[in-house]
Amino acid sequence: MVKKLDHIGIAVKDLEASLKFYEGILGLKSAGTEVVEEQKVRVAFLPIGDTEVELLESTEEDGPIAKFIAKNGEGIQHMAYRVENIEESIAELKKQGIRMIDEKPRYGAGGAQIAFCHPKSTNGVLIEICQRG
Ligand code: ZN
Repeated sequence: MVKKLDHIGIAVKDLEASLKFYEGILGLKSAGTEVVEEQKVRVAFLPIGDTEVELLESTEEDGPIAKFIAKNGEGIQHMAYRVENIEESIAELKKQGIRMIDEKPRYGAGGAQIAFCHPKSTNGVLIEICQRG
């Protein structure tokens, strides 16, 4: 089902400050930032090899990333796996008894279609599946 690790999502308090580390020190290069209104986040994607780091900053105090940081502090928030056909993947995951947060694909940064699996079904990791192109 899964083709590759698409990206790792990291919750940050301050996108600009975190870019100083990722770009200024690690030497990665942001491919640009985007606000995803639905998720109440501003994201930056930093390609590295065949995958990407996605930095997520909350745009609202009640957004999912703000809640995550309030509970856990900054850090890895999700892992995203690329799939070829998200509708089929969701159907298969459900068939296998995996609890889905999203039963239908929704819009993700960069024009991807994404869906989240509930961490209760995935060894405690918030897993995003995404289809691009
Ligand atoms: Zn993501």
